[in-house]
Amino acid sequence: MTLQIPSTTDASAPSRDAVHDSRRLCDSEPIHAPGSIQPHGVLLLFDAATGVLSHRAGNCERLLGLAPRDNPTACDLLGISIDDLIVSCLLNLNDEPVYVGLARPGDRRPLAMMAHRTGRFVAVELLQAELEGSVASALDLAGAIFTRINACQSLRDACAVAVDQVRAITGFDSVMIYRFQDDDSGSVIAESRIAQAAKYLGHRFPASDVPRQVRELLRRNLIRMVPDVDYEPAPLVPTPCGAPMDMSHCILRSVAPIHLEYMKNMGLRASMSISLLAEGELWGLIICHHYQPRLVPVETQLFCRHIATSLSAFVLAHERAESARLGTMQAAALDSVLEAMRRSEDPERRLRTSCEELQRLIDSGGFILLAEDGLIAGAGWYPEEDGRLAALYDFLHDKLKDRESYATDRLSEEYPQGAAMVREASGVLAIRLQASRPLIALWLRPEQVEEIDWAGDPRKDEGLEGSSQQPSPRLSFVTWRETVRGRSRPWARRQIEAVELFRTRVGYAMQRVRLERANAELAEANALLATQATTDPLTGLANRRLFDDRLREEWSRAQREDRPLALIAIDIDHFKEYNDRFGHPAGDECLKRVAEAIGGTFREIDIAARTGGEEFALLLPGIDAEGAALVADRIRAAIEGLGVEHPHPDQTVVTISLGVAATSPTLTGDASALMAAADRALYRAKENGRNAIALDRGD
Ligand code: GH3
Ligand code: MG
Ligand code: MG
Repeated sequence: MTLQIPSTTDASAPSRDAVHDSRRLCDSEPIHAPGSIQPHGVLLLFDAATGVLSHRAGNCERLLGLAPRDNPTACDLLGISIDDLIVSCLLNLNDEPVYVGLARPGDRRPLAMMAHRTGRFVAVELLQAELEGSVASALDLAGAIFTRINACQSLRDACAVAVDQVRAITGFDSVMIYRFQDDDSGSVIAESRIAQAAKYLGHRFPASDVPRQVRELLRRNLIRMVPDVDYEPAPLVPTPCGAPMDMSHCILRSVAPIHLEYMKNMGLRASMSISLLAEGELWGLIICHHYQPRLVPVETQLFCRHIATSLSAFVLAHERAESARLGTMQAAALDSVLEAMRRSEDPERRLRTSCEELQRLIDSGGFILLAEDGLIAGAGWYPEEDGRLAALYDFLHDKLKDRESYATDRLSEEYPQGAAMVREASGVLAIRLQASRPLIALWLRPEQVEEIDWAGDPRKDEGLEGSSQQPSPRLSFVTWRETVRGRSRPWARRQIEAVELFRTRVGYAMQRVRLERANAELAEANALLATQATTDPLTGLANRRLFDDRLREEWSRAQREDRPLALIAIDIDHFKEYNDRFGHPAGDECLKRVAEAIGGTFREIDIAARTGGEEFALLLPGIDAEGAALVADRIRAAIEGLGVEHPHPDQTVVTISLGVAATSPTLTGDASALMAAADRALYRAKENGRNAIALDRGD
C-alpha cells in the first residue's frame, strides 16, 4: 500500500509562538480547538461525503514515509473506504474514537487507526501500536482484573487494585485516583508509585487545577495522553477556514500550554489521564505520571480505559447499594413518625414530641422545631431559647422562600450570628413545615475540624478560574496543611431528599387534619342550620314548618295503620293586652314559660310546636279525641297553675284556650283538615269564655 499525502504550505499554519502565546486558561478558552496536535501520531481529516483528504497534522513523512500527492482518498492512503470508516464510527455511541485496524506503511511499524466523526469530516488518527501479546492473553488479563475489582468490598480496595494494575500495564512511575469533591476540588484516594515519585495520596488539589471546561472535555473524551511535555505542536494544515476545528475527541489534540507548564512545575515529562464517569458525570480520574517521556501504545490506553469503566461500574453499584440501604432505613423511620402523626388527633403535637426520632434518623447532633417567635421543641444538642432563635428563623425562612430545603455545612459563613453555636451547629439542614402556623424543622451538625493536606497552598492560586485575572500554573506542590474550622460533614444528597420527602408528607398529614377539622365544622354548621330551619328560636319548640311536615307524616301513618291521631290547637287568651300592659319583652318571657309548660306535658312521640305568635299546637299520634281532651285539660291546668299575672279584668293569671280534634270516619280530606278542625274547636273554646277546651266532633 502506498500512502500519499497532499503538499501544503505551512505558512498558513499557526506559528508555534501563537500556540504558546496563550498563558491564560480561563473558563471560556476553547481548549477543544487548539488547531494543532501532539506530534507522536498523525491526524488525517477526510471529507465524509467524498472521502478525499482535507486536512492533516503531524509528520506524515516521518511516521508514514509518504510522498505528497494531490487529493488522495482514505482508500488511497489507508486502504479503507470512507463508507467503512463511517460505519465503524457509528459503532460508538459517545463519539469516542474507534479502533478500525492497522495501517502498514511499507516496511515501517504498523500504526493503529482510530477514527471518529467530527463535523463534516471523518478524523483518522494514526498512533503507535503495540504488536506484542495475543488478543487472547489481553482478554484473559482484562477478565482477571475486572474480577478482582468486582470482588472488592470497598471503594478504597477497588481503587487500590485499579492503580496497581494500570501501573503494571503502562509502566508509569506513579498512578493515582483523583476523586472530585462536591466543591470540585480533588482528593487523591489511591496511589501506586515507584519509591522516588512524589507522594500525593491523601492530598487535596484546588478546584482551579482542573477548570470547568477541562472537566467538561474530560467527561466527553476519556483518555488524555501527553507522551512528552516538550513536544512541538503539529498544526493542522491547511488551516481550516472559518471556525476553528472542534478537536474534542482527537486523541492527539494539543493540550493547553498552561497544562504543560503545570506538568513541568510538578517535574513531569509525561502523563496520561483516564476519566472515571458514573451516570455520565465525571467523578474522578486515573492520573498517571512519568518523570521521563513515555508513549503508551494505543492498545494499552484502550485497556486502561476498560479498567476505568470497570472501576466506575463498581463505584456506581457500590454507591447505589449503600444509598438504597440507607434510604430504606431512613424511609422506614420517617414513615413511622408520619404514621404516628396520621393516627394522632393532633399531628402537630405528635410532631413536637417526635423530635428525638427525627434527630436520630438524619445522622445529626441535634434537631429543633422553630416558629417565628422562637424555639418550639428540640432534641439532641440544641441552642437555648435566648431570644436569638427568632433571627435564625428569619434567616432560614428567607432561604426557604423558593426552595424545598436549605443545607449548608458552613452556616456561619452565610449567617454570622451562627458563629455563636459553631461547635455544635456548623451544619444545618432545614425544611419548612406548614402546620397551624409555619414551622421550620432544622437538623444540626457539629463542627468537624478538618486537616487538609493540600498539594501546594491553594490560596496562592486564587483566580485561576476567574476570567478577569491572569492565572498561571502552580509553581509549588509542596504539602501545605490547612486546618478548616466552622464546617460540619456535608449533608448527603439522599439525606436532603429524605427530609424533602418528609416535608411533603407532613404537609399532606397536616392538610388532612385541616380538612377533617373543616369538615367537622361544616357538619356542625349544617346541623345548626337544619335545627334553625325547624326550631322556633324563642321557645325551642318545633316551628310551623316542622309541625306541618310531621302532621303530614303522622296523618299518612294514621291512615295506613288505621290508628287515631289527635291535634290540639292552643292560643293564649287576651295576649295582646298582656303585651300592651307589660311590654313585648315580658310578652316573650311569658311565651317561653307557656312553651315550657306545654313541653312538660307531652310524651316522646308527641310533637309540640309554636305555630304562630301566641299560638301552639300539639300532635298526639295514637290518641283519640277523648284521650286528647284529657291531655288538653292537663295543659290548660298547667298554664293556669303557672300563676303568671294577667291584666285583663276577666282573669287574674295567664290562661290558654284549646281546640281538640282527632281523626274520625267523618274527617275526610288531607292533614290540613285535622288542623282546620282543631282551629274550629279553638274558636269555640274562645267563644265559651276562654281558659277552656272545645272538642271538634266533626259536625
Ligand atoms: P284572644 O284571646 O282572642 O286570642 O286575644 P289575643 O289578644 O291573644 O288575640 P290577638 O290575635 O288579637 O293578639 C295576639 C297578640 O299576640 C298580638 C301580639 O301583641 C302578640 N304577639 C304575637 N306574637 C308575639 C311575639 O312573638 N311576642 C310577643 N311578646 N307578643 C306576640
Ligand atoms: Mg291568636
Ligand atoms: Mg290569643
